[in-house]
Amino acid sequence: MDYIDPHIHMVSRVTDDYETLAKMGCRAVSEPAFWAGFDRGSVDGFRDYFRQLTEFEPKRAGWYGIQHYTWLCINAKEAENMQLSREVIAMIPEFLGRPGVLGIGEIGLNKNTRNESTIFLEHLDLAAKTNEQILIHTPHLEDKFKGTRMILDMLCDDRRIDHGRVLVDHVEEHTIRPVLEAGFWAGMTLYPVSKCTPQRAADMVEMYGPDRLLVNSAGDWGPSKPTAVPDFILAMRLRGHPESLIRQVVYENPLKFFRQSRGFEFPPASV
Ligand SMILES: [Zn+2]
Repeated sequence: MDYIDPHIHMVSRVTDDYETLAKMGCRAVSEPAFWAGFDRGSVDGFRDYFRQLTEFEPKRAGWYGIQHYTWLCINAKEAENMQLSREVIAMIPEFLGRPGVLGIGEIGLNKNTRNESTIFLEHLDLAAKTNEQILIHTPHLEDKFKGTRMILDMLCDDRRIDHGRVLVDHVEEHTIRPVLEAGFWAGMTLYPVSKCTPQRAADMVEMYGPDRLLVNSAGDWGPSKPTAVPDFILAMRLRGHPESLIRQVVYENPLKFFRQSRGFEFPPASV
């Protein structure tokens, strides 16, 4: 089945992974800017990273017929460095008009600190002023519930933000409801060590229906599985769900969300 992985960090993956994804039906990926495993020392480090995301990764994906899109920001972990964060936020507009750039992300919280919140709000302001879509990272494990609540409050407090143009990622059973009820899109991240499994994602589709729900692998430099979306497809099939329902979640929903971005162009199947 054709599918799209709306949250995967391909800079951390080898070229063979692109080939495997293509063979499994992956037609497009979207890659949010994230923490590289170490704190970068300067705004130029981010500028080079954004060049990699907007110049080289689309080319590498293209070798296997996969469309590559991206989101730009300074992640919540490095947001503790306020001065560097502000330099990066001021530099992001250099890249916003580039092909394949879908918006601002993945912004959010990591340890729910005051500095993280301040930089989150400054990203929201940039997105509002530039009319960009937003992709949100919610914290992990014990910080998730409180962090998601804080993020939703900040989003709802800014009247300029169109909830239908915000994707809140890494939702789980205890955070998905308020995200969907407030009109946001919700992304379920399938991950071997934390976050969600294909079976739990299938449970949530059964509980909440397929509208505004996405599934991603978040494939990154840690233990993760870039082919997790096909695992979800299989889990849904084994439960007897119709192909049309599965296709809505893994293909049509990401397309519908991405189409709201100026930088999104998806070629027809024959191209
Ligand atoms: Zn991520």
